[in-house]
Amino acid sequence: MSARIIDGKAFAAALRVRVGQAASHFTARIGRKPGLAVVLVGEDPASSVYVRSKGKATVAAGMESIEHRLPADTDQATLTALIDRLNADEAVDGILVQLPLPRHIDERAVLTRIDPDKDVDGFHPVNAGRLATGIDGLVPCTPLGCLMLLRDIHPHLAGLEAVVIGRSNIVGKPMAALLLQESCTVTTVHSRTRDVMAHVRMADIVVAAVGIPGFVRRDWIKPGATVIDVGINRTETGLVGDVDPAVAEVAGAITPVPGGVGPMTIAVLMRNTLVAACRRAGLPAPDAL
Ligand code: NAD
Repeated sequence: MSARIIDGKAFAAALRVRVGQAASHFTARIGRKPGLAVVLVGEDPASSVYVRSKGKATVAAGMESIEHRLPADTDQATLTALIDRLNADEAVDGILVQLPLPRHIDERAVLTRIDPDKDVDGFHPVNAGRLATGIDGLVPCTPLGCLMLLRDIHPHLAGLEAVVIGRSNIVGKPMAALLLQESCTVTTVHSRTRDVMAHVRMADIVVAAVGIPGFVRRDWIKPGATVIDVGINRTETGLVGDVDPAVAEVAGAITPVPGGVGPMTIAVLMRNTLVAACRRAGLPAPDAL
C-alpha cells in the first residue's frame, strides 16, 4: 500500500482564495488594503526570487505590497531607521525582512526591532514567547503551514506521538510548540540525538526539517504514520526533500517535494498579514483562516 500524497499546492491555493476574500472584506470595512512591507538588502538571486513571489502573492490576494530593495552595503543604522518608519506607518500591517542579511548586519538586532504585532514571519522573541505560553501572536509561516496540513489529515491530533527532526528557530522549535499546543506527545530530535531512528520509529507524525537529502529512511517509519517533509535541498537531480521517497511505501500520508510544504509558506504569510491587519484594526480575524 502506498501513502496518500498530501497536496500542499492545492491546500495553499484554497487558503490564498480565503485570504483574498477576507482581504476584500477588510478593505471594504477599513477603507484601505492590508499592507505587507518586504525588505531586501543586497542582490542574492534566491532572495530576489522569493521577494518577487511574495510581492506577487500579496497583490493577488488583494493586499498592498510595499517593497524596499536596499544595496548590499546598507549599514545597520539605515536599516534600523527603515524598520522604525515601517513600524510607525499606519498603512503597513506586516513587515518581513528577507534573510539572510549581509554579514556586516546584526540580524538579531534587526529582527527584534520589528513591532511584534507586525512581525508576520513570527521570528521576534515576543512572538516565540507567545507561542510557547499559548498567547495569540504571529507564528512562523512554515511550521504553521505544516500544522494546517496535519489538521486536515488528523482532525484529532491530541495524544498522537509526534517527532520533529530539527530544532531551528524558524521551523523545528515552533513546530514542536504548535504540536504541543495541539496536545500531541512531542519529541524533538536533532544533530546531537543519540538514536534518531529509535524515536522516529515510535511516531504517528514525523516532521523532517533537517536540510539533508533523503535523511529519513523507509525502515524508520511506523506503518501508517503521517510524514511532513519540510526539506528543500537543491541537488544535481533537482529539488529533493529530507525524506527518502521510498518512505511513501510505508507511510499513511506524506507531503511531496516539491508541491507539499513549500507552497504553504507564502500562503501562510498572506494569512499572517491579514490576521495582523485585522488585529491592528480591532477586527476579529476570520475563523476560516
Ligand atoms: P537548520 O539548518 O537551521 O536546522 C537543521 C536542523 O537539523 C538543526 O536543528 C539540526 O540540529 C538538525 N540536524 C542536523 N543534522 C542532523 C542529524 N544528523 N540528525 C538529526 N538532526 C539533525 O535548517 P532549517 O532552517 O530548519 O531548515 C531545514 C530544512 O527545511 C532545509 O532543507 C530548508 O531548506 C527547509 N526549509 C523549507 C521551508 C519551506 O518553505 N518549505 C522553509 C524553511 C526551511
